[in-house]
Amino acid sequence: MSEQLYLDKAFFKQSLLDMAKLTEEQRDYWTSLDSDIGDGDHGVNLSIGFRGISAQMNDLYEETEDIHSLLKKSGMILLSKVGGASGPLYGSFFMKMGEDVTGKNQVSYSEFLGMIKNGIAAVQHRGKAQVGDKTMIDAFLPGLEVLETYQVEEDPYQFFEKFIEVMKKGAESTIPLVANKGRAMRLGERAIGHKDPGSESSWMLMDIFNKNLKVRSEI
Ligand SMILES: [Mg+2]
Repeated sequence: MSEQLYLDKAFFKQSLLDMAKLTEEQRDYWTSLDSDIGDGDHGVNLSIGFRGISAQMNDLYEETEDIHSLLKKSGMILLSKVGGASGPLYGSFFMKMGEDVTGKNQVSYSEFLGMIKNGIAAVQHRGKAQVGDKTMIDAFLPGLEVLETYQVEEDPYQFFEKFIEVMKKGAESTIPLVANKGRAMRLGERAIGHKDPGSESSWMLMDIFNKNLKVRSEI
């Protein structure tokens, strides 16, 4: 079933635009999470970055020859515009996502999962965080483990839903933790009881892919 599902460049364009919309809607919430344990700029930073992507999207879409370049250029915008730790991390995610599908204008569902895996590996490589450090890796890594279990017989939409659910739980799991990375580290035990903002934004951003997959399932 999943082998009949192909995602084209327009799917990624729409997802990036929807992520930009999400960052506007969630900006104050993500910033308030970051105000609890960081420097209170997470939502604002991401909205600046994604505004840059949406402002340039029509040109990016026309000028890029494949999905990889569209994502790579979008990631470069995040990298250049977003301050704090999240810019380089999300920037790397999108820059590396399409590396294995260079030259393609549509990808299979399995290739799409591979792209998410590459993105997560890039975040891991760049941030060097472990599970339990109270970072976005607490959401991404359990998600990655789910992606590794994919079998072609599975329903692609339910499978991706499972990926999101596990990421969401991973974000919840940061609440009782002391931070081992970032500014929250300085708070020591005072970070306990607060959710890590990057873990929350990461599952919510991936949920945009989930929502757009569901749109595809209804066509
Ligand atoms: Mg911050």
